[in-house]
Amino acid sequence: MKKGKRLQDRIDFEHHKEIDIAFLEKNLKTYPCPVNISRFKKACTFAQKAHQNQKRHSGEDYIIHPFNVAYILIQLNVDEDTLIAGVLHDVIEDCEITYEEIASEFSQTVAEIVLGLTKISKIKIKNTTENQVENFRKMIVAMAKNFRVIIIKLVDRLHNMMTLEHMREEKQKIKAQETLDIYVPLAGRLGIHSIKAELEDLCLRYLKPEIYYRLANSISEKKSERNEYIEQVISSIVGHLQENSLVAEVTGRSKHFFSIYKKMENRGVSFGQIFDLLAFRIIVSDITNCYRTLGIIHSAYRPIPGRFKDYIAIPKINNYQSLHTSVFGPDGKIIEIQIRTEEMHLIAERGVAAHWQYKENNKNSQISWIKDILEYTRDSQSSSDFYNYVKDDLDIGGVFVFTPNGDVRELKRGATPLDFAYSIHTEIGHKCVGAKVNSKMVPLRYRLKSGDSVEILTNKQQTPSKDWLKIVRSARAKSKIKQWLLKEEREKNHALGQNLLEKEVKKINLDFKEFIKKAETKKAIEQLKLKDSDELYIALGSKRLLVKDFFERNDLTKSIIREEITTPKVPRKKENASSGDNAIIVDGRNNISVRIARCCNPIPGDKILGFITRLRGITIHRLECSNILDEDTSRTVSVSWGQATQYRHPVSIRVRTTDRKGLLATISDIIGSLGINIRSAYAKSMPDRKGDFIFEIEIRDHNDLLRCINAVEKTDEVISVGRI
Ligand code: MN
Repeated sequence: MKKGKRLQDRIDFEHHKEIDIAFLEKNLKTYPCPVNISRFKKACTFAQKAHQNQKRHSGEDYIIHPFNVAYILIQLNVDEDTLIAGVLHDVIEDCEITYEEIASEFSQTVAEIVLGLTKISKIKIKNTTENQVENFRKMIVAMAKNFRVIIIKLVDRLHNMMTLEHMREEKQKIKAQETLDIYVPLAGRLGIHSIKAELEDLCLRYLKPEIYYRLANSISEKKSERNEYIEQVISSIVGHLQENSLVAEVTGRSKHFFSIYKKMENRGVSFGQIFDLLAFRIIVSDITNCYRTLGIIHSAYRPIPGRFKDYIAIPKINNYQSLHTSVFGPDGKIIEIQIRTEEMHLIAERGVAAHWQYKENNKNSQISWIKDILEYTRDSQSSSDFYNYVKDDLDIGGVFVFTPNGDVRELKRGATPLDFAYSIHTEIGHKCVGAKVNSKMVPLRYRLKSGDSVEILTNKQQTPSKDWLKIVRSARAKSKIKQWLLKEEREKNHALGQNLLEKEVKKINLDFKEFIKKAETKKAIEQLKLKDSDELYIALGSKRLLVKDFFERNDLTKSIIREEITTPKVPRKKENASSGDNAIIVDGRNNISVRIARCCNPIPGDKILGFITRLRGITIHRLECSNILDEDTSRTVSVSWGQATQYRHPVSIRVRTTDRKGLLATISDIIGSLGINIRSAYAKSMPDRKGDFIFEIEIRDHNDLLRCINAVEKTDEVISVGRI
């Protein structure tokens, strides 16, 4: 039993003020991969000379920074060129050293890495979203070309974060936020867990100092008590393993601040309520022993249901492997336990950096991920698409679900059946009408949980809707839906634009087909830099171009003078929506009083959902209402429409028309003739000579609404009618 042997569990992330070449050399003595020490020392001397007389914000000699970076790189066991480039990483940027000099003194490879790092540091993250997105893209592309650049950049940032206290507070916050947005997910994606955890804690310290210091205080308060308990647990575990003649290394520690903080946030609990602050790690010789150990642990301590995760059978995307479980340890305290082999441990702590040591098993998945990203830069339409794609891809730690065939898929945390459908095939996503999870029907906004088995129901008639964008979590699904909507909008605008133009042309007594073929018309289209009449219709339909402006460019129609017609404004009355008598059945009972949500204003016939609010009892929303999508599902309750109800529901419809005097009265008459009451009407004349009316009407149910919309639509001047 190797109990007590201190595994190099945590890398030494202390800032070393007195660091020198001798110290670094000492740490290279038992290096696992070949290093030419004299070449490394040459790099150190070179850097020392280059940074001579330069100081850091802290007042320390500048060389302290690259030496500390090198020390962390040594602990990550990176290869020689990466080490040397790490020592030299700031010499092009801060000193007068050139690429050629480095290439001739060391090697082309080293020079390229240093140049890559210099380029990244020139990308300044600005505060505007537009710039940020574009810079992020540049940064990823620059780094992705050489993954040694990423590793050094991560360590460089880590050391800068470690010494951030010397910066101004405002700068600290900017740096910390940028680190959390870019470098933390990057470290996670590359599987360098040790750096990720360290960066997260540093970010927390500068972004949420009050939380960080409270955690730090509470943890240090009970330090000796906790250490005693850790020792007790370790010897208890070791004892149980020994009884089964299992050899293992067992270590214990308190969890990182950031992961405690995340837990508090996710579960909505305070520090006092978080008990499982301790994590233990058991390292055994092989996979079989991992599962044997798990069996021993689960029979010795009572496991907490739902907390066991098998990342050995199903590794995370970043290759992370381990068994995770939580149990009631001695004294009934909840403890987390990770079980893994030594190799898994190295990969977990050092990620891509560890692959130098395990080349034979290296499937290079990280590298292929980088290739994917480069591929995507070429295809992506906009920088913000790319940004989302990469962020999405970096954001691991999702949920594992099963397809009907038993295949496993990993989706983002918070993913819905729609995300799952799109992950299978775009068409399955487009045609998705519902989903069964574990054989039960669920709403599309249902949040998938690990272990769910998901079956998608499709219908040929189904098409994506805008609301879906609020339901899906993955960038893939989002971009597929957006693409579809864009195409649909183009088609719609095409029809709408053509229609608009036809109506206007009719008014001036011209035949439309002839009009569009006329040389004057073609010339006007050309002047607007539009390709053809199709593009003209789309421009008109999307209102990027107004018919009036088009006419003004067209010699045929130039002279036509338009009158602006104004309609009086009728202010919209404010009414409090409320439910009628027993209009809604809550969980099978019809005597519960409810309130109709103002945000989506459901009417009988709509699919609805009840949402329990703190102050107002149950509020009824439309199923697709965006306000409840992100809410806690435990607060929803199933509701349905009652049968007989005399209650009239207020609903607003918007009618867009071409402008004509008296149209308000015409439409009001049409609605009135259907026996539908109008509560209020609001009209305005748009600058493009279109009318925009909003009627608040009272209806019994969905059918009433449809009848009303259909009747109004039949009016010649009406362009569109829709519920708002
Ligand atoms: Mn640096």
